[in-house]
Amino acid sequence: MNAILKDRNSQIVRAGADTKTIACNKPSLAGAVSQRACVFCGSRVVLYPIADALHLIHGPIGCAAYTWDIRGAMSSGPEIHRMSFSTDLHEKDVVFGGEKKLEAALLELIDKYQPKAAFVYSTCIVGVIGDDIESICKKVQALKQIPVIPVHAPGFQGTKKDGYRAACEALEVLVGTGNRPAQEFSINILGDFNLAGELWILIDYYKRMGIHINATITGDGRVEDVANAHKAQLNVVQCSGSMMYLAKQMKEKYGIPFMKVSYFGIEDMSDALYEVATFFKSDDMLTKAKEIVRFEFARLMPELVKYKQALQGKKAAIYVGGSFKAISLIKALRLIGVQTVVVGSQTGTADEYEIIKQLCDEGTIIVDDSNPAELSAFVKETKADIFIGGVKERPIAYKIGLGFCDHNHERKEALAGYEGMLNFAKEIYATAMSPVWKFTK
Ligand code: SF4
Repeated sequence: MNAILKDRNSQIVRAGADTKTIACNKPSLAGAVSQRACVFCGSRVVLYPIADALHLIHGPIGCAAYTWDIRGAMSSGPEIHRMSFSTDLHEKDVVFGGEKKLEAALLELIDKYQPKAAFVYSTCIVGVIGDDIESICKKVQALKQIPVIPVHAPGFQGTKKDGYRAACEALEVLVGTGNRPAQEFSINILGDFNLAGELWILIDYYKRMGIHINATITGDGRVEDVANAHKAQLNVVQCSGSMMYLAKQMKEKYGIPFMKVSYFGIEDMSDALYEVATFFKSDDMLTKAKEIVRFEFARLMPELVKYKQALQGKKAAIYVGGSFKAISLIKALRLIGVQTVVVGSQTGTADEYEIIKQLCDEGTIIVDDSNPAELSAFVKETKADIFIGGVKERPIAYKIGLGFCDHNHERKEALAGYEGMLNFAKEIYATAMSPVWKFTK
């Protein structure tokens, strides 16, 4: 296929036919126009939902533009996170340095918004001119008596995945600094960003099982909770691509075990509840988890059956940030009669791609770190009816003339948990069956 560059062949396999292991976890091919975002973007995505912190982007205004209140991460209290602050570096700052501007911006913003902490993100140009943001942060921290944490994230230094790591390193600075008393049966929820309030759905399930939520990192996040995250007995990690580093560090430093879960689809949501109950070795908790699953299943299935009948035979293309989420999506789509014909991710791992290969029907195209030319070609070849992705995949779908479902951080619809599964089915149905697509062909 013309759309595939020769050097990209190793990152594309077909389920059933290919015996080769997909190549992944490597830098994007120069000139391939990867769908991946930059290091700064990766760090910003992870830290963004900490609602009582100041997020100051040290760089030109363009870096900050995308992060201004575009994301669906909700807060039950303060909302400083919804604003995007930038030092707005210009040519003069590039020549003479931006440190004074950064210090002045921090002092002014802390006085005005009274945040509990500040994160200072470095961007490409700061990496080039070499501003010492570390020393400015230290100085302002001493003056204002709140944590002021540098996030080392010049965009060009790697990929979005390196940005996840930079965010985890910034969180690590906070973790362990609180001294709240520990509680029994307490967990931290890592890697849920409370998009459209879906974290609150999950918290409700866990609370019904008798579990105490110690900290949510970073959905509906608070600085104090992150500081006390070391008091939990278990880290429950969704979005493992972004949060696994922090979970591993916390295991090493504080001896807190972690488990990987997914909250998308009935099967994975139920497994998450069972696995947490099993971890605490509590029969009572397991019984409550079973009750929740039974109740939600009985409520949901009659609705899902209707969507399954209507959607039977439809085909979907999936391109998301991490491959772990893609696994849940394949299962959730199958539950409503939709076959996955293309599946890929920006930062997937070899193990997860192998699971995907086993899970998918023969011929399904599996792709790592793809680009618009490839994705368009794959979608056309497989005659997919719907595309599930994020903000950068939406135009690909619409240009080809097929339905799109946003499963990324910009969405305003909760797709996690049992309620989320129903919302997902409704959205897939509404977009795949819309009569508008017959006018675009
Ligand atoms: S690549 Fe560099 S300039 Fe572009 S958004 Fe990322 S940090 Fe900013």
